[in-house]
Amino acid sequence: MIVIIYGHYYTLNYIFMVNIQVKNNIKLLNYTTIKIGGYTEFFAEPETIFEVIEYLKWVKLNNLKYRIIGAGSNLLIKNTFHKGLTICTRKLKKIKINKISGLVEAECGVMLPVMANLLAQNGCEGGEWLIGIPGTIGGAIFMNAGSGKLWISKYLLSVEVLDTENLSIYKIDKENLIFKYRFSSFQTNNLTILRANFIFRPNKNIKKITQETKQNLKKKTSTQPYHLPSFGSVFKNPINNYAGKLIEEAGLKGFAIGGAQVSMMHSNFIVNNGDATSEEIYELISVIQQKVLQKKGIFLHPEVRMIGY
Ligand SMILES: Cc1cc2nc3c(=O)[nH]c(=O)nc-3n(C[C@H](O)[C@H](O)[C@H](O)COP(=O)(O)OP(=O)(O)OC[C@H]3O[C@@H](n4cnc5c(N)ncnc54)[C@H](O)[C@@H]3O)c2cc1C
Repeated sequence: MIVIIYGHYYTLNYIFMVNIQVKNNIKLLNYTTIKIGGYTEFFAEPETIFEVIEYLKWVKLNNLKYRIIGAGSNLLIKNTFHKGLTICTRKLKKIKINKISGLVEAECGVMLPVMANLLAQNGCEGGEWLIGIPGTIGGAIFMNAGSGKLWISKYLLSVEVLDTENLSIYKIDKENLIFKYRFSSFQTNNLTILRANFIFRPNKNIKKITQETKQNLKKKTSTQPYHLPSFGSVFKNPINNYAGKLIEEAGLKGFAIGGAQVSMMHSNFIVNNGDATSEEIYELISVIQQKVLQKKGIFLHPEVRMIGY
C-alpha cells in the first residue's frame, strides 16, 4: 500500500517552519569510508526529517542538482567539483525498538551496527549480521545490503519516502517495492528514504544474540581489511560464483595502481593505502574487469555506486 502522509507539503510549511543552513565548498573525502572525494558546492547534514524536506524544497526552488549520501561506505566520489547540494543523513539517527513485538522504527541515518547492538540488548533476533556493515539504514535499503543469504529487505515492513518531484511523503509497504541481490527499487526512482519500519523476532535470549553479534564482527574484521579505508566489496558476486575468487584467480591479489590496491586479505576489496586518487581507484576497477573478463570470461558488475562518473 502507498499512503500519502504529507501531500502538498507547502501548505504545512508554516507549521513545521525550520531554519536551514548550507555549507559551501565542502570536501567529501571525510564523508566516505574510502577517504576519497572532491568538493561539493553545497553541503547539509539535517538533524530532522523536516529539515530534509526544507533542503529539498530549496534545491527545487533553485533548480539545483542534489545527491543523498549516508555513511559513504559504498561510494566512489570523483575528485572534482560537484555542483549542487550533497545531503548527508548521518545525523538522522532516531530509533525506537519495541522489544515485545520486535517492531523497529528507524530514521534513515541510523547506523547498522547501532541497530544490531540495540536489537541484541532488547532480545530481538535476526539482526546479528548487521554489526559488520558500516552503513546507514537508508544506504542499506537502497543497496539491499546483506550478508550471505540474509538481506536487509527480509526484515523490512515499510519505508517512508520523500518524492522530490512533488515534495510529498509516502509510506510504501515492502510488497510494493522490488528487492533483489544488491538491488532495490530506489536505484531506479527519485525517492529519498526518510524512515523505515522493520520486524525482528522478539523475546529471545539476550546473551546468545549478543554473543552471536560479537562473533559476527570478529569474523568480519578477521577476514576483511577493516583496518584500511575501503568501500567493502567492489563487485557483485556473479551467479554461482564469487568475485573475490575470480579476481584472485586472475592473478590480481595485491595488484596496485598508485595508492589503490586489491586487498591482500580479501580480493573483492580495494583499499586506499593512504594517497589513492579517485582516478586510480576507477582505473583499478576497469583493469580488474578487463582481466577477469579475459581470463575467466565473466564480466564483473560494480556494487559500488559512483558519483561524478
Ligand atoms: C568495511 C566494509 C564492509 C562492508 N560490508 C558489507 C556487507 O557485508 N554487505 C553489504 O551489503 N555491504 C557492505 N558494505 C558496503 C556498504 O556498507 C553498504 O552498501 C551500505 O548499506 C551502504 O550504506 P551507506 O549509508 O554507507 O550508503 P552510501 O554509501 O552513503 O550510499 C550508497 C547509495 O545509497 C544511496 N542512499 C543513501 N542513503 C539514502 C537515503 N536515505 N535515501 C535514498 N538513497 C540513499 C546513495 O545515494 C548511494 O547511491 C561494506 C562496506 C565497508 C566499508
